[in-house]
Amino acid sequence: MTLRIPKDILSHLEHTGEAYYPRESCGLLTGVRIDADTYSVENFHFIPNVQVDSSADYLMEPQAMHNIIMSHKPGSFRELVGLWHTHPRNKAIPSLIDLGLAQRSGRKDVPYVITSVEFKHTFAYMFTGEEFVKTELEIV
Ligand SMILES: [Zn+2]
Repeated sequence: MTLRIPKDILSHLEHTGEAYYPRESCGLLTGVRIDADTYSVENFHFIPNVQVDSSADYLMEPQAMHNIIMSHKPGSFRELVGLWHTHPRNKAIPSLIDLGLAQRSGRKDVPYVITSVEFKHTFAYMFTGEEFVKTELEIV
């Protein structure tokens, strides 16, 4: 899997993470599924983090998340191509909380994208159903 992301959207993600520091921020990436192994990001949808302790966890505001997902169903003009959140102080490596969220959601068709605010890097992962495997993030 390769996730293509425009440089300006990537820097927008980084700036969003900085703006909410030291809280985690989150959102959805939509765009085009070019084929099963290549997705292209075209838009970032900020979703408020409604987790009470948001320094080490996030919970996307359910209605806002639902609205974006329903308007970007598979086969739509633009589809969901990524789930994004920040790690304000830690590296962009999935946490045990992230693993729990992925196991509960069961989502294996969309990359999980994490931006580390402190370490200034962004990585993408696919969830196999059991673990996260790093995938290519191609900056275009
Ligand atoms: Zn996380």
